Amino acid sequence: MDEILLSVSNLSITIGKEEAVRSSSFSVSRGSVTALAGESGSGKSLTALAIAGLLPSSATVSGSIIFDGFPLTTWEGIRGRKIVLMLQSASEALNPVYRIREQVRKVLSMNDRDSSDEHVMELLSSVGIADASEKYPHELSGGMQQRALLSMAMAAEPELLIADEITSSLDEDNADMMLRLLVRLASEHGSSVLFITHDLPLAARYAGRIAVMHAGTVVEEGDTGDVLSSPGHPYTKLLIRCSSLEKDSDGSLLVINGIMPSPRDRIRGCSFSSRCPVSIPACSSVSPPLRISGSHLWRCVHE
Ligand code: SF4
Repeated sequence: MDEILLSVSNLSITIGKEEAVRSSSFSVSRGSVTALAGESGSGKSLTALAIAGLLPSSATVSGSIIFDGFPLTTWEGIRGRKIVLMLQSASEALNPVYRIREQVRKVLSMNDRDSSDEHVMELLSSVGIADASEKYPHELSGGMQQRALLSMAMAAEPELLIADEITSSLDEDNADMMLRLLVRLASEHGSSVLFITHDLPLAARYAGRIAVMHAGTVVEEGDTGDVLSSPGHPYTKLLIRCSSLEKDSDGSLLVINGIMPSPRDRIRGCSFSSRCPVSIPACSSVSPPLRISGSHLWRCVHE
């Protein structure tokens, strides 16, 4: 049986009057790549910030986040060391006034690791940007900035690397290359990956397990092959049909009708009831039951 590295249970996050994450649960096994997938605004990034201990002080959090067997209540000695978060905007994450090699060396020093020139160059070579070691972030393309960030993430040798939409500004080929590199390096360093994405085909290629979020709630979780070949939740089914994994008979992509409930909305019953093509009256009044098939879980009134 897989060893669980991260277990998120009934996580809810409220900021002001907005309940952005609602009773969400999923887990990440040690050594695995797990995707947290869903449309924009589904609460994926706030979940990542909660795991990394980076929520604003105004956020109210309930539920539990267990990391490496212990509840995460303080992130001292964990964030930036055992848990590393890579954000979508590499240009904002990199320090504009330091050369790339200096930024990698700083991460190595902070983590009490070998910060010699040789090791810095080894890390930059591993992501294919050794030639950029003397450059400043603004001298690099978006893809090279992401690679620089990846080398810094790997310098920490984290137990968990959270990659939040890191490929969204890259074209399809570069996104694929970046993910392949990330997964290979994480495997070599023994890091688990939580890969946050709206891109189901990328998740299908690189994640062994997937958790699907809608309106702040994880509605389905399981091995990626099981979820994508036999989705249980109607939202996952539609998400697959809207992605390039599946096309309509005339070759066009489908869209999901309706709009996702906003964090300001008070949701009763299933969060998908206003958009679901197979909803019944009970869906908007009672919480849908949990369906379990092995390690494949989803919540729906229908079996
Ligand atoms: S519980 Fe009802 S509304 Fe929700 S996904 Fe199932 S059928 Fe659709």
